[in-house]
Order: sequence, then structure tokens, then C-alpha cells
Amino acid sequence: MYNQHLYELGLAPSVIRELFSYGIQKAAEVGAENIYDYSIGNPSIPAPAPVNAAIKNVVDEIESTVLHGYSMAPGLVGTRDAVAANLKKRFGGDITGNDIFMTCGAAPALIMTMKALAVSAESEVLAIAPYFPEYKCFAENCGVKLRVLPADTAHFQVDLAALEGMITPETCAIIVNSPNNPSGVVYTEETLKGIADILTRKGKEYGHTICIIADEPYRELVYGDVKVPFIPNIYDNTIVCYSWSKSLSLPGERIGYVYVPKKCTDADAIMKAVSAAARVIGHVCPPTLIQRVIEVCVDEMPDLKAYEENRDLLYQSLTEMGYECAKPDGAFYLFVKAPNGNDWEYSEKAKLEHNLLVVPGSVFECPGYMRLSYCVSNDMIKRSLPAFQAMMDKIKK
Ligand code: PLP
Repeated sequence: MYNQHLYELGLAPSVIRELFSYGIQKAAEVGAENIYDYSIGNPSIPAPAPVNAAIKNVVDEIESTVLHGYSMAPGLVGTRDAVAANLKKRFGGDITGNDIFMTCGAAPALIMTMKALAVSAESEVLAIAPYFPEYKCFAENCGVKLRVLPADTAHFQVDLAALEGMITPETCAIIVNSPNNPSGVVYTEETLKGIADILTRKGKEYGHTICIIADEPYRELVYGDVKVPFIPNIYDNTIVCYSWSKSLSLPGERIGYVYVPKKCTDADAIMKAVSAAARVIGHVCPPTLIQRVIEVCVDEMPDLKAYEENRDLLYQSLTEMGYECAKPDGAFYLFVKAPNGNDWEYSEKAKLEHNLLVVPGSVFECPGYMRLSYCVSNDMIKRSLPAFQAMMDKIKK
């Protein structure tokens, strides 16, 4: 006996993982240098040196049963205080360690937050296409309906009029992911203020708050002078789900947090519900070792030079070939229009004919586009360019 629904979910292939596995298998046949794998978002820059130094230090200095022991469920006091001090320094506001709940990355943070906000089985959470496809599984876990706002393919910002029309009395939250996976676009202050106005208006109309869940694993991955607005400074009822997976290149260490601002309506109750949600899903506490490391490395920033060079090379080369894409200001993704209009066909042909692995935009509910993860070597990008050109030439013929 087993759960039929989960069994079927287990059978459903993850397109991204399948492409990634294909690349590994094919590399054994044709050589890794002949595979151009843009499938997966695994950081390719090393964690900053102080992070590795801190790992060594905590191993040397902290007694083993303490270092490898449980922490309190919301996380270590020192780590939560350090996170709060960092946020306060950068974004202002009345933030203390009690407003922070440490998690094993953004994924459980999002699940806990959705669970904490969902009022009933009728509750709805909105996502904005293109979006991280795991939101679907997370919402399902929380027993809420995920409704998706179609993509604004003109600029990959948000179609505010359409958003307003989608909100119902059952809407409890909207997930806002900026810099965005998969478009790489940073939502402007104007877009975020527009969302905030709508939520304020609709919240008054329906007599309850509608939260923004700010999904922020890419907050620090932003290029040039572009600023990522801090959403709690724009809309009070914002709950932040953060992760160091991408910013410090630590996805395997599983560390992040939920931040519930005090000014959020029912902040205390929401924090208690987040903490109960953690229990319900068996999220005991993140590893103590990595919490200790974050405590001392919380002010570290990634060196984005390699990603920025990759973005510039890929964006410039592809647009010169005639590909169209919104210039990404953040994250490490490029979201390119499939020149033949068919993302599945382009992805399949590119894979079979050129060992070029790109993810169809349909996976992110945005057909006709393809996601390229450029957290790869600059050399691989250079070697892959003839394959992109050959694909374009065939389509133009
Ligand atoms: N949200 C987005 C938009 C992501 O791209 C990812 C991971 O790729 C996550 C959440 C989950 O991140 P984490 O590794 O912190 O669980």
C-alpha cells in the first residue's frame, strides 16, 4: 500500500533533472567538453574564502556534541541576532532575532510560510509566471490552491490589471520572486508598489490581509547599479523567505530563514504558526554547524564577476545571432525566446543534434521561451556558441 498520488508525482519526470542526467551520461560517450549544459541552477563560483575558514574554525573550536547537536527549533540565538543585525543595517526597521526563524533553505521556508498563512482548504496562493515549478508541490503539501498569473512577456514584470482581476476572497498570499528564476529580471519598485496597492485595496474589500511571500534566494545576485527593493519596506504584510544556497554558493548546506516583520498584521501569531508548521513537516532545526558559520559570515557577499561576465557574453552573443530575451539584471538565468516559437521542439533538437541542454519555458508556465542557467564556465559558453548559431541558421532556412 502506498499513496497513489505521490507515487504518480514520483513518476513524473523533472525536465530539469532529466536534462542534467542526460548531460552526465552523454559526457561519458562524447567527452564533457562537447556537452553544453545550461540545465541546472547549481552555483559555479566557490563559497567566499571566509566561509570555508569559518567551517574549519567552528570544527576546531566548538565542542563536538555542541557543534553537531540540535539547536533550538527557531535556530541559535546568536545566528538569528546576527541575521537581524545584518537586515537592520542594510534595510533599516525594527528587526530583532525574534523575528527570524532559521530554516534548511528557502524550500522549507516557503512551505512553512504557506502553511502558516493558509486559512482553509479553499485558500489560494498566487504565483507569477514564469515561476519556480516547485511552488506547485509546496502548495499541494500545504493543501492550498496555487493559481498562476500569466507572464507579462513584454518586460517580464507583472501585469497589474490581470493580477487585480485574479484576487478572490480566498487569496491569502502572492509569491514574489525577484531577482526571478527563470527570467533573471528584477521587479522594479514601481511594479512592487503596484502589487502592494492592489493587495491593500483588495485586503480592505475582503476584510483580511493578503501577504506577499518574498522568495529571495537570489537577493544578492544582482549586476551593475541595479538595486533589489526590500519588499517589507514597500508593503508591511511581507514575509521573507531567504536562502544562502545561491548567495554564498551553499545549496548543499541547506540554510536560510523566514523573516516575519513586526509590522505585519498578526506578526506574533504568524511566527507561532510558522514554528508549528516547521514541527508538522518534521523540520527540527537546521544543522548547528552551518548556523554557527552563518553567524560569523552573515555580512559576506558573493564575488559576482564570473556570473556577470557570463551574462554579458551570453546575452550579447545570442542577441547578435537574432535571439530575443529580456536583459537579466539578476540571478544567473537568461530567458530566451525560442526562435521557432516552440520551446519543447527547440530544447529536444538542441539536445539531440548539438548536446546543447536548455530548459523549455513551459516548465515555468511560460511556453515559447527557454531558460539558460549560466552558472557554468565561461569557456563552456564560448564553446557552445556555434551550437546556438547552428540552431538559429536551421530555423531561419
Ligand atoms: N526559490 C527559487 C526561486 C529557487 O530557484 C530555489 C532553488 O533553486 C528555491 C526557492 C529553493 O532554494 P533552497 O536551495 O534554498 O531550498
